[in-house]
Amino acid sequence: MVGVFILVGHLVIRAMQRKRDIIFFRQGLSYRKLSLSRKRILEEYPFYQHLQPKYQRQFEHRVANFIADKHFRHRYDEPITDEQYVLLSAVACRLTFGRRSYQMPMLHTILLFPEAFTSPVNEAEHKGEYNPNAKVLALSWADFKLGMDVINDNLHLGLHEFTHVIHFESEHSATVDATRFHKYHQLILRQLMRSEVRAKLDDTQFFRAYAFTNQYEFMAVLAEYFFESNAEFRSEFPVIYNYFKRILLYKEEWII
Ligand SMILES: [Zn+2]
Repeated sequence: MVGVFILVGHLVIRAMQRKRDIIFFRQGLSYRKLSLSRKRILEEYPFYQHLQPKYQRQFEHRVANFIADKHFRHRYDEPITDEQYVLLSAVACRLTFGRRSYQMPMLHTILLFPEAFTSPVNEAEHKGEYNPNAKVLALSWADFKLGMDVINDNLHLGLHEFTHVIHFESEHSATVDATRFHKYHQLILRQLMRSEVRAKLDDTQFFRAYAFTNQYEFMAVLAEYFFESNAEFRSEFPVIYNYFKRILLYKEEWII
């Protein structure tokens, strides 16, 4: 009888965990695990390989929860592969690994296209497009993979698009992570208004021009540079770098 209560309690808390990370439960009692075939894919992911074992367990737990919580759909109804489930979720969880909230409540569905697609909204070609009203993130799988596989060109579609998701969340949510994002985003914008910072941005051309499209693209491009040119970003623009690091609450040891 007691066993039944424990089992039911376990299942209830696990279901709740899909929406909110219950730290005492995760750390004390249960890490969610991936199936063996999916775990093998995760084990090939460099960020995961680089983590200490205790963080590897947390990361796998988060990836498994993320997979359970999101809808994954293929635009032409092809089946979603294990590689797609794991890598899409691993990139999302890599971005948010320092945060308490990693479930991206402003995202319901990841819609995969095989390659770049034409948006019905403006007929432009897109590799990724986040629609916050529908809570849908559309992604070109080919470009997502390319962004992951080339690690030093400051182009990482997945990190870019997931940054749009948490940026939107920061404007529509009052969680501690959203509030912190908002606060440091404001401080970054204030930096951009300083003439010496602007001059340095112009002189160095460090960030690609697309970053200056608008404040949302700026943050998404900062994420790409944070993960792909971490040391250079830090030495060129230390103040902005530190604000961005605070947004993500990123630990030094996770940076590869
Ligand atoms: Zn963008």
